[in-house]
Amino acid sequence: MTLAQYAATEPSSRGRRFQEPAPSHRTEFQRDRDRIVHSAAFRRLEYKTQVFVNHEGDLYRTRLTHSIEVAQIARSIARALHLNEDLTEAIALAHDLGHTPFGHAGQDALNEKMQAYGGFEHNLQSLRVVDELEERYAEFQGLNLTFETREGILKHCSIPNAKKLGDLGQRFLDQNQPGLEAQLTNLADEIAYNSHDVDDGLRSGLIKLDQLGDIELFAEPYQQVIRLYPHLNERRTIYEVVRRIIDQQVSDLIETSQSELRQQTPDNIEAVRQSTKPMLLFSNEMREQNLQLKRFLRNNLYRHYRVHRMSSKAVTIIHELFDAFMQDTRLLPPDTAEKTRQLESEQGDSGRARSIADYIAGMTDRYAIREYQRVFLPLEPT
Ligand code: MG
Repeated sequence: MTLAQYAATEPSSRGRRFQEPAPSHRTEFQRDRDRIVHSAAFRRLEYKTQVFVNHEGDLYRTRLTHSIEVAQIARSIARALHLNEDLTEAIALAHDLGHTPFGHAGQDALNEKMQAYGGFEHNLQSLRVVDELEERYAEFQGLNLTFETREGILKHCSIPNAKKLGDLGQRFLDQNQPGLEAQLTNLADEIAYNSHDVDDGLRSGLIKLDQLGDIELFAEPYQQVIRLYPHLNERRTIYEVVRRIIDQQVSDLIETSQSELRQQTPDNIEAVRQSTKPMLLFSNEMREQNLQLKRFLRNNLYRHYRVHRMSSKAVTIIHELFDAFMQDTRLLPPDTAEKTRQLESEQGDSGRARSIADYIAGMTDRYAIREYQRVFLPLEPT
């Protein structure tokens, strides 16, 4: 397929941190994707969640299925816009690698504990996973991914941290945009979680169909589905609605972005990066509808008392594990203790804290719960 002039390409790539021979039977961006799929952090996504804790039910999304859904949506849009599909897929599959256990509650809890030591940002942690923490290759730490994939993974970054990142952090200082494949994955992430959180929310019973009557993005396709299929059972009705919610957003994003790209006509990826305005976007109407749905989910699902109870437990687990390990590193498993000693000898207390944060962030939901039991309860779980 012919790529658009503003798509990322191999010849225009800013390359890898450590030079390597070109791959023989796949593209550079396909190699990135393959390295991500083979990483340990990717396998752990299966047991990490965003809203629901992993053991609550087998049918809810995990970070792994979420990442696959994001990749699917992002690839379809990339193809329609003639962007680089391989790069888009690599970014999508890696975008959540740095997430802590227990979703946003976990990330906030760890960030709170890390305040005195440089903080904890999950996007930055995803980058740390692919740059430093994965240990698979003889010649380098991390996965040695291309600049473009790393640029896409780092979707947000605070200014103090951006200053430490050289080339990769520069756009946060200049307030410029990343390449279009990175912009796209960010929006595909939003499309995926808004629609699947409605689905999981309804399945769990935490939200009810009649609450969604005023939510435009849901109500319109819902009316359409019950008109077309009045006898369909509730579960299949919801699936039919959710696929329409995704489709509406994807179509809107493609059409709005096509017209924006026609107006701005960037000559190449560097012109995209120089721009201060995003070139991939929803129409104003769709953005409003998205906001309305997000607000609804925040008030009715993410703040539901049952979700809050779990989040509150997550905070306790992460805070207490962090404090215990900071006070006594002999509680850490030997290889983590060794890494902690090393980072501490280089960077003092901040190094010790960073290593412990790496250990905690790498945990799956169930591992964190078991580790809590092993550290604090008199009897170890069997
Ligand atoms: Mg995500």
